[in-house]
Amino acid sequence: MTEETKFSVMVSMFDWIQKSKYSAKKRSKFRKFLDTFCKPRDYFTAVRLILPGLDRERGSYGLKESVLASCLIDALGMSRDSPDALRLINWRKGGAKTGANAGNFALVATEVLQRRQGMASGGLTIKELNELLDRLACSENRPEKISILATLIKKTNAQEMKWVIMIILKDLKLGLSEKSVFHEFHPDAEDLFNVTCDLKLVCEKLRGRHQRHKRQDIEVGKAVRPQLAMRVSDAQAAWKKLHGKEVVMECKFDGDRIQIHKNGAEVHFFSRNFIDHSEYEHGMSDIIQQCVLADRCILDGEMLVWDSSLNRFAEFGSNQEIAKAAKDGLDSHKQLCYVAFDILYVGDTSVIHQSLKERHELLRSAVNPVKGRLEILVPSGGLNSHCPPGEPCCSLIAHSLDDVDKFFKQIVENRDEGIVLKDLDSKWEPGDRSGKWLKLKPDYIRAGSDLDVLIIGGYYGSGRRGGEVAQFLVGLAERPLADTYPRRFISFCRVGTGLSDDELNAVVTKLKPYFRKYDYPKKAPPSFYQVTNNSKERPDVWIESPEKSVILSITSDIRTIRSEVFAAPYSLRFPRIDRVRYDKPWHECLDVQSFIELVHSSNGT
Ligand code: ATP
Repeated sequence: MTEETKFSVMVSMFDWIQKSKYSAKKRSKFRKFLDTFCKPRDYFTAVRLILPGLDRERGSYGLKESVLASCLIDALGMSRDSPDALRLINWRKGGAKTGANAGNFALVATEVLQRRQGMASGGLTIKELNELLDRLACSENRPEKISILATLIKKTNAQEMKWVIMIILKDLKLGLSEKSVFHEFHPDAEDLFNVTCDLKLVCEKLRGRHQRHKRQDIEVGKAVRPQLAMRVSDAQAAWKKLHGKEVVMECKFDGDRIQIHKNGAEVHFFSRNFIDHSEYEHGMSDIIQQCVLADRCILDGEMLVWDSSLNRFAEFGSNQEIAKAAKDGLDSHKQLCYVAFDILYVGDTSVIHQSLKERHELLRSAVNPVKGRLEILVPSGGLNSHCPPGEPCCSLIAHSLDDVDKFFKQIVENRDEGIVLKDLDSKWEPGDRSGKWLKLKPDYIRAGSDLDVLIIGGYYGSGRRGGEVAQFLVGLAERPLADTYPRRFISFCRVGTGLSDDELNAVVTKLKPYFRKYDYPKKAPPSFYQVTNNSKERPDVWIESPEKSVILSITSDIRTIRSEVFAAPYSLRFPRIDRVRYDKPWHECLDVQSFIELVHSSNGT
């Protein structure tokens, strides 16, 4: 690729790949593009635009669809209430014209851009595009972002700008997997990426397709793609899969998967998506310096929040808030706590090729655990398949299916997320999900009785379900007295999965005549619905009146969560629609009081 290769050349390749049905053809088109238009030294310049989700050289743009919509409106100088501006803001919903494109932001934007941009290519080069994207990622204020978007619009036509938008949103929808791109690029590309998470390095090291690269090991300071767990349906299936192996059972913690890379005084916290979470430094670096004895090492584990007043891990979701409190020096009974369940590197050597059993020993000698701050998850002795009471980090050797059953039951009773079973003889393999680790979760166990809740609102879907309501806001009834008709409905949770396409279509068709657009913030919600108006709750449409609505039976992970998003005091994690209760009249909806009693009786807080 010369400095001046036009982005339009890449756009032709994208269009072609997207249209082609066959994976082999898509791959060979990509290869041809590299061979024809790219010099090996420019591979990164091109590949980072094809796999934008893996590019860590540029920071985040801070532009998800809704912000991007409002910036594009300003970049195009449109008035906020013009039909095209509304089309962009309501990209999920569509309308008479956007119908077919609803749910696909880039396509809706193209429609709008086509009316404003010329047909001819704007002449943008790949080099210029990368420079503008660098600036877009660096810019901290909105006017700057708008001005860069305006430059991009000036230098492209609508078709080109569509792909620029998809690059910014980091989803090209080419129908070509990351694996295929890597395989076509170089036979060693995926392996090298897995152990470095560095796209630039992969493109620079693997310039000759026929020159094989010596297998590279992991390094301190470079994120590694995590070993993953395969999901199994029940304890029996898990036990069968690990037949004859020595197995450890561990609690599945519900936090952030984080790799800690310690290199002397330098500590990095890499997430699953290889983002360096420096916000954990304030709360964690000291304890790591004091209690991780190895000077250089990589720990694998979960970052959680420990609540010292309750003496247990806090609910999922407060990591960022507690990291910020630690940074601001605020006093709190909650603190970050890292649970290390594996070790990948010690001293000057990678240890991922050693067995898990050996790695547990290394973990024991590399870390001095401190309760509620830095824990290690290694099997405790004894044949008893019960964790010691009050022990937050529990790991036991399984000797029989019965042991697994008991352990799982205990986890379910404790309302933990699930268990992970691991082959003690296994190596740790980057990006592997082949079954060395198995996860078993108690999802979708009925919360004692059915939860029959009323649909009070709807949300438009995206992608395949763009332009149609695809999720529902459901509510619990509020009755003045037991056995009376409800007066109001209290928003409770948002649910979308569980029904087949046909079942979902049937509910949507039935309710469609009663959908009323929620014109937030101009119009208030209907008075018979109590809502919070939290942006995560806010539906796109309301059901005109409860009498017209339909009851859904929902199931969920057995745990309930305290809710600030919805008006009811508790909500559900991972709710799922079990069935539609056309047979049940609207007023038989579960009421708030009965639900709270249900939560308390099952201690589901
Ligand atoms: P999930 O949503 O179930 O966490 P996932 O796709 O994020 O799935 P998986 O690899 O399938 O990740 O499941 C394992 C995940 O569980 C790890 O990524 C990690 O974040 C978490 N986890 C919690 N406790 C453990 C543990 N003891 N051992 C391994 N992983 C654990």
